[in-house]
Amino acid sequence: MKNNETKHLNILSTAVIGCMIIAIILTAGTFSLGRTADHDTKEAVRNVSLLYLSELATRREQVVSQILDEYTNDIDIALGLLSSEDLSSTENLQAYQSRMKQLYGLEKFAFVDTQGTIYTSRGTRSDIDDYGIDYMNLTDTVVRIKNLKSSDKKVILAVPTDNLQFEGHTLVVCFMEIDMDNLLKDASLQSNNNTTFCNIYTPDGIALTDMVLGGLASEDNLLGAMEHADYEAGYDYEKLKEDFESGVSGVVSFSYNGISETLYYVPVHSTDWMLTYLIRESIIGEQINSISDSIIRRSLVQSVLTAGVLIVMFTLLFIQQRRASKATIDKEVMETENRVRQQELEEQLAMQEELASKSEELSKALEAAEDASRAKSSFVSNMSHEIRTPITAILGMNEMIRRETTDPGIIPYADNIDKAGASLLGIISDILDFSKIEAGRMELTDSEYSLPVMLSDLYNLIQFRAEAKGLELKIITDPTLPKGLLGDELRIKQIITNLLSNAVKYTEKGSICLEVKRLEADDEHSRIKLSVAVTDTGIGIRKEEMEKLFTPFDRLDLSRTRSIEGSGLGLSITRQLLGMMDSQLEVESEYNKGSVFRFDIWQGVTDPGSIGDFDPADITLGTEQKAHDRKYFTAPGRSLLVVDDMPMNLQVLKGLLKRTQMIIETASSGEECIRMFGSNDYDMVFLDYRMPGLDGIDTILQLKKLYPDKVSVTPIISLTASAIAGDRERLLNAGFNDYLSKPVNIPELESVMEKYLGSPPDVAVTDETEIPGDTAMTAIPDIPQCIRDIEALDIRKGLEYCGDAEDYLFALETYAGSVDEKAEQILRCLEDKNYEEFALLTHSLKSMSKSIGALRLSEQAAELEKLCKERALDQVLTGTPEFLKEYRDLGATINLCVPLEQQS
Ligand code: ADP
Repeated sequence: MKNNETKHLNILSTAVIGCMIIAIILTAGTFSLGRTADHDTKEAVRNVSLLYLSELATRREQVVSQILDEYTNDIDIALGLLSSEDLSSTENLQAYQSRMKQLYGLEKFAFVDTQGTIYTSRGTRSDIDDYGIDYMNLTDTVVRIKNLKSSDKKVILAVPTDNLQFEGHTLVVCFMEIDMDNLLKDASLQSNNNTTFCNIYTPDGIALTDMVLGGLASEDNLLGAMEHADYEAGYDYEKLKEDFESGVSGVVSFSYNGISETLYYVPVHSTDWMLTYLIRESIIGEQINSISDSIIRRSLVQSVLTAGVLIVMFTLLFIQQRRASKATIDKEVMETENRVRQQELEEQLAMQEELASKSEELSKALEAAEDASRAKSSFVSNMSHEIRTPITAILGMNEMIRRETTDPGIIPYADNIDKAGASLLGIISDILDFSKIEAGRMELTDSEYSLPVMLSDLYNLIQFRAEAKGLELKIITDPTLPKGLLGDELRIKQIITNLLSNAVKYTEKGSICLEVKRLEADDEHSRIKLSVAVTDTGIGIRKEEMEKLFTPFDRLDLSRTRSIEGSGLGLSITRQLLGMMDSQLEVESEYNKGSVFRFDIWQGVTDPGSIGDFDPADITLGTEQKAHDRKYFTAPGRSLLVVDDMPMNLQVLKGLLKRTQMIIETASSGEECIRMFGSNDYDMVFLDYRMPGLDGIDTILQLKKLYPDKVSVTPIISLTASAIAGDRERLLNAGFNDYLSKPVNIPELESVMEKYLGSPPDVAVTDETEIPGDTAMTAIPDIPQCIRDIEALDIRKGLEYCGDAEDYLFALETYAGSVDEKAEQILRCLEDKNYEEFALLTHSLKSMSKSIGALRLSEQAAELEKLCKERALDQVLTGTPEFLKEYRDLGATINLCVPLEQQS
């Protein structure tokens, strides 16, 4: 492209230079032609002038000689008219002469006698010598000039007479005197165009008209003037002079006073005069010059115009050429493009063919993969069922043992079964969550939730684990955070729990911190962006291992983490859940220093009231709500059919539902269920989903077919271990009123029953103080007897605060495990007079004691904290030992009942 541009520029500059050369040639040619033409024209003009002059001179000479001839003729006629009478007297002769003068317009008409006396019309004269007439020897007509040197020149024309006799004298000559001006007037010598001048000169150069060289010469003699002239080649003065003297015609070109002239001369017949014609070439030359100048100018203009036209033509040609070459290039480019396109098309076609065959292979592979994926999903689903079902049964049966045994030796075993089972369930939940997310079947459900309650729950869940490892747990919240939020509380809690659990798991010493901040809100303040960060001072993550952090089942730094419980799925699930919520997990970590896991998330706002200064240690905030929620359901006399193929599950459910005071019947298959449903009226049915023979869906379809009326009024709830999202729709579509995931827990069971079993009087929801028909044991079923026997503990309060028996027992363990160390620290603070630390420790003991239901101890700790802050040090010193004694006693008693893991 650039080459083309240069090529075109080269052509254009060549064209312009060419045009300029042509213009120069034209201009120079015009100048030289002009000059040559000028010269040639002058030459031609001279030649023409010479012809013209010779013609003019000859003609004028003829005129002059004719005039002279006419005068000669006139004399002859006059002489012919002369009578003897005229000669008879002087008077008569003079009269005759006067008549002739008048007739011919003469100055004088006179006769000369042999004595030289002149007889005029007025008298006689004797100055015959002035007339130059050789009167005695005159044989022919002669022309003479009188007064040649003066301006009053006269032409004398004399003829011989036949010796006329007059009064005794012999008249030999007759002559007439003509005024020179008159004569020459008739000859029209004057020209008024200032270019040609006619004149008559005597042989020695005297001008008859008193004007030499057309008035140009300062001399009054032509030959005298011509002596000073510059002659052109071929002409000279001598020749001129000679010609004049010998009366020969000729021509001479010269320059006089810088003016170029050509003189043509011709002798006047019958005189010695020379008639000249002078042409002033300078003037003609000037005119020719101006003509040739204007010709040159015009030619120049013409040349410039020609050059201009040529340039325009070249430019147009160039543009045309350029367009043509551009069109050619475009065409070539198009052709090349077309070729390339065609080639591409051919390649595409080939590729498409290849693709078609590949896609066939791929679709087969895809089908196989889909089959495999379906198989995997169903495997996972089956596995979950297969594993969950026995675990549910194990946990249920274990629960029965824990409730019913009074043997303190059995309880720790049962507790350990419970813990291991719960951990196994956790792992299965993780695997299920993971495969649900992978299969795109994880669903998020938004609901209203309380942020302080959630934070409180998180604190309660983690605090004891942190405490157990001697880690400080800090919860930092923004006081402007709203109380009520809208979002998937379960999943958000799962995410934060995961991060907090990891922080505890992978931190040996120091602290972990949960920080929740408000980042921004939308215009209507209906949504808020939270920033959540979990920071720890733990083992950290090596830079090179960072990318493996989210790889499922991958655990890092195995030498240090092998002994720590974990599946390697938590972060992967966390990250994917956050992705589903349009958020992402960011990690910063320094090996051996600690890590920060952070994410930002948008949540709806349902209660904009701010949470204010939220104290994580003030756990009543979270549990208050729970305490209110903690209702117990009873429906004495109402009947319930529970269907499950596993007798153990039936037993567990029966056991768990005992306190509802309902009539509970069981069936171990779909067929049995149909039978029993037909022959009895139940208020509610719990129907297992997976059973050999008729499964849950087959069974309900049969029931609907056989007993449509009964089905329409009886709530039938599905129990399913399957956690796959699509199952839920299938169950509801099949006709189940609701479903519960296995392993079911009491609150869920009760809330479903409350929802479907209608209203009192027979159905009641009571708080813990009004539990009818059962012992305190039923109300606090999961706590070993020896714990229940500890007076210093208010077990119900402890359960309220901790949520359930498992967490409560864990809290007790942790509490008891740290007693000695804490007591030591408190004593050391007193010794060191470190009251700040003392206040912190008692503050922490206040909330910890309260959370396990050690209310008195909690109050004592609160009192000590208060006294310490007030600096009532005496009272602190006296009160502390008593407090520490009670504290240590409680720890020891708990340790007896709930041996710590490391001890067991
Ligand atoms: P796991 O069940 O093993 O804890 P996760 O997916 O939660 O699985 O974490 C994956 C790995 O990332 C862990 O095995 C551990 O090596 C590392 N990890 C997670 N959190 C932390 C943390 N706070 N500090 C150090 N390492 C961590």
